[in-house]
Amino acid sequence: MADPKGFLKVTERELPARRPVPVRILDWKEVYEPGDSAVLRRQAGRCMDCGIPFCHKGCPLGNLIPEWNDLTWRGEGRAAIERLHATNNFPEFTGRLCPAPCESACVLGINQPAVTIKQVEVSIIDEAFGNGWVEAEPPGRLTGKTVAIVGSGPAGLAAAQQLTRAGHTVAVFERDDRIGGLLRYGIPDFKMEKRHIESRIRQMQDEGTRFRAGVEIGKDISWSELRARYDAVVVATGATMPRDLPLPGRDLAGVHFAMEYLVESNRATAGDAVPHQITAEGKHVIVIGGGDTGADCIGTAHRQGALSVTNLAIGRRPPGERPEHQPWPMTPTVFEVQSAHEEGGERAYLASTVEFIGNEAGEVRSLRIAETEFVDGRRVPKSGTERDIPADLVLIAMGFTGPEREHLEEQLGAQFTGRGAVERDDEWQSTAPGVFVAGDAGRGQSLIVWAIAEGRAAAASVDAYLMGETSLPAPVRPTDVAIGL
Ligand SMILES: Cc1cc2nc3c(=O)[nH]c(=O)nc-3n(C[C@H](O)[C@H](O)[C@H](O)COP(=O)(O)OP(=O)(O)OC[C@H]3O[C@@H](n4cnc5c(N)ncnc54)[C@H](O)[C@@H]3O)c2cc1C
Ligand code: SF4
Repeated sequence: MADPKGFLKVTERELPARRPVPVRILDWKEVYEPGDSAVLRRQAGRCMDCGIPFCHKGCPLGNLIPEWNDLTWRGEGRAAIERLHATNNFPEFTGRLCPAPCESACVLGINQPAVTIKQVEVSIIDEAFGNGWVEAEPPGRLTGKTVAIVGSGPAGLAAAQQLTRAGHTVAVFERDDRIGGLLRYGIPDFKMEKRHIESRIRQMQDEGTRFRAGVEIGKDISWSELRARYDAVVVATGATMPRDLPLPGRDLAGVHFAMEYLVESNRATAGDAVPHQITAEGKHVIVIGGGDTGADCIGTAHRQGALSVTNLAIGRRPPGERPEHQPWPMTPTVFEVQSAHEEGGERAYLASTVEFIGNEAGEVRSLRIAETEFVDGRRVPKSGTERDIPADLVLIAMGFTGPEREHLEEQLGAQFTGRGAVERDDEWQSTAPGVFVAGDAGRGQSLIVWAIAEGRAAAASVDAYLMGETSLPAPVRPTDVAIGL
C-alpha cells in the first residue's frame, strides 16, 4: 500500500497548473504546465489501497489503480507502466482525455476530494515514453490468420494491438488520410497533441500492425470483398452521423456541424493547406450544445480570434456539487469547467433555438432563441420570450445519431438496433458471421475509455473465433453498464 497515513496527512487534491489563459490561447499546445514529481508522489500516497477498490468498478478497463498508485508513490515508474499497460493499451489518451469515472467512484471521495488518479496515470505513461520504456511487443509466433480492422479510432487501435500481439496478421483500414479517428480530427491539440498518436503508431508498426490510410471500406473496397479476403473483420467505424437542428434558416451560409469545423481546424493545426477554411476569426460564434464537442469548438474559436463565443444549452445548468440522486459511487452530472470554458465566452442555459436569421446574401447574421419550458416532459421554446443574438458562425454540437449504415446494410446485411447502432451479440459479433463490432459503432457516441475497453474485449472474441480459445482479456461485455455511465 502507498503511505498508510497519506490520506490523513494530505487532504487536498493537487494538480498541475493550466498555462495562463492569455498565453495559451495564442497557441495550440496542451494547456497544462509540466507536473511536479514530488506533488505526484504525495497525491499517489493518498490512495488507501481499499479492500474493495471501487475505482476498479468505475473504470471500464478495470485499471489496477491502487497497484500503480503504490508503485508511483515508491518511485518505481517502470513497474507502474507495466501494471498500467496490463489493462490499458493507451494511457496517454485516457490520462489526458478521460472524464475519469474512476475518480467519481474513488472511496476517498466519500468525505474528501478523490485521489488524482488520472494525473497519476498520465504521469506514468509520459515518464515511460520519456525513458524509452514503451517498447514494441511483437508476437513470438504468427498464427497465419488475417484480421481487417475498419476504423483507426481508439476502438480499432486497441483491437489491432491486441490481435497483432496474439500473432494474427492485422491491417487497419482508415478512410481519412491520417490514423487516429476522433483523436486525430475531432479532439484539438490543446487537449491532446497529436505527437502522442504518432508515438503509439510507431510502436504498433514495430509490432507488425499494418496501416492503410485513405481507404474507405464500402467504396474503395466493398465490405463483402473485405470479408472474403480476411479471416475476420472488426467494424470500428465510430458513430459519425451528426444530430441536426432542422429549423428555419438551417441552410444559411455559416451554419455548420461542429465536426465540419473541428476537422478543418485540426488539419490547419497539422500544417495542411485548408482552402476556404471555416474559421471563427472576427466573428460572433454560437455553439449549440454542451458536452466535449461543444467545449472543443469554444476553445478552437478563441484560438482563432472570435469576437464573441456563446454556448447554448437547452437544459438546466447542472448543480455545482454531486446531487443527492446521484450518490457516490455514481458518476454525477455536475457543472463542468473544462479548460476551454476558462478561456472566455458566455454559457447560456435553458436556451432553445427557434430560427437562424440571415442577410440578403444568404449568410447567417443572428440566432433567434427563447427560454426553454418543459411541456409534458418535452423541452420547447416558451412563447413571448424570444430574442435575437448576433451570430456569424453557428456550430451545431448536439451529438451523434449513430454509425453510417448504408454500405454495411447493403454489402454485409448487417442489422442495426432501434437506437441506430450496429447490432452485435454477446461476443461482439454482428449479424454477419465473422464480422465483429467495437466502440461507438456498436454503443453510440461514448468515451475513449469505453472504445479501448470494447476494442480489447472484441479482440478476445475474434481470437476465440479464429483459434477456438483465447487468453486475451475481455474487460467488458456488450451488455455491461458501468456505474453511472
Ligand atoms: C469533438 C469530440 C470531442 C471528444 N472529446 C472526448 C474527450 O475529451 N474524452 C472522451 O473520452 N471522449 C471524447 N469524445 C468521444 C470519443 O472521441 C469517442 O467516443 C471515441 O473516439 C470513439 O472511438 P471509436 O474508435 O469507436 O471511433 P472514432 O474515434 O470515431 O473512429 C472511427 C474511425 O473510423 C473511420 N471510418 C468510418 N467509416 C469508415 C469506413 N467505411 N472505412 C474506413 N474507415 C472508416 C473514421 O474515419 C474514423 O477515423 C469526443 C468526441 C468528439 C466528437
Ligand atoms: S478507490 Fe480511491 S482510495 Fe481506494 S484504491 Fe481506488 S484510488 Fe485508492
